[in-house]
Amino acid sequence: MLLVDDQPVIAMMVRKMLAVDPAIEVQVCTHATEAVARAREVRPTVILQDLVMPEANGLDLVLAYRSMPETRDIPIIVLSSNDEPEMKRSAFAIGANDYVVKLPEPIELIARIRYHSRAYMALVERDNAYRALRLSQQKLLLSNLELQRLTNSDGLTGLPNRRSFNDHLARAWATSQSQGSPLSLLMIDVDYFKNYNDRFGHLAGDDALKCVAEAIRKAQPDPACLPARFGGEEFAMVLPGVTAAQAGAIAETLRREVERTTLPHKAPEPTSVTVSIGSATMVAPPDASPDLLIAAADARLYQAKCGGRNRVVGH
Ligand code: GH3
Ligand code: MG
Ligand code: MG
Repeated sequence: MLLVDDQPVIAMMVRKMLAVDPAIEVQVCTHATEAVARAREVRPTVILQDLVMPEANGLDLVLAYRSMPETRDIPIIVLSSNDEPEMKRSAFAIGANDYVVKLPEPIELIARIRYHSRAYMALVERDNAYRALRLSQQKLLLSNLELQRLTNSDGLTGLPNRRSFNDHLARAWATSQSQGSPLSLLMIDVDYFKNYNDRFGHLAGDDALKCVAEAIRKAQPDPACLPARFGGEEFAMVLPGVTAAQAGAIAETLRREVERTTLPHKAPEPTSVTVSIGSATMVAPPDASPDLLIAAADARLYQAKCGGRNRVVGH
């Protein structure tokens, strides 16, 4: 409890009254000019504020405590020799919590100090709990976002994974059905990749897949188009609103980009991997599923393989 009163005799008497309750620690400030600074330093759970002081009006001090974030909510008991209702009204009007006429019975003063002190501590506790809750909610939100990112991306290449591909294709398919817009799909498969692994090892194979993924990411024409790892050494790109001719051009750019990328494995001679790409485009028919488009792109991919690999087959 912080007592702000210029008369040392009052301080002495208050100390004496409160001495019977060891739970109440009394701090005294006799200069009005130091009151706010003392309150910020002591952080009392109650301020007992004298109304008439030589250096300042007690009511102005009440306003000053209320204007500081650290002291704004501390309960203030005004201590006054003035018993006039008008004075009490002004004190309560500017935010005092209680008003006691000098000097009350010890039992009354102790009861009031305890009551206000408890109420303030409950408020502080509630605010702290609320802050902690907000913080943990924010953390939870961030970890949920991270979890969502992890569930939707492929661990090796960082590209959207098969689950993400399925979701995206289903949405793009529904849009094509409802709007009659074209939808293209590229199926991309690394050529002779088994040989690559056999020759340079699985880790070099992983690095090669990362390079292919990077080239696919680069070829993504806009954010609505989704590059993905379909599985193993197969990749895909969903191209909503993209015509057959545009899809063929995107596929060709991608094929060249993979071809010109030199891979970072430790083979004696620089080697590049190549990809074969099947491209299919359709306006999704009303009762069909996206498997239709996947099968069409797959069939073209097969043709690209049979035709000698490292090529695009579209319409
Ligand atoms: P093709 O030109 O006909 O596509 O021949 P291919 O050898 O690429 O095709 P195949 O399906 O026979 O082999 C695919 C290989 O891809 C076999 C498998 O070990 C390898 N592979 C699949 N996923 C991974 C991976 O995550 N890392 C590595 N290093 N290899 C993978
Ligand atoms: Mg392959
Ligand atoms: Mg394959």
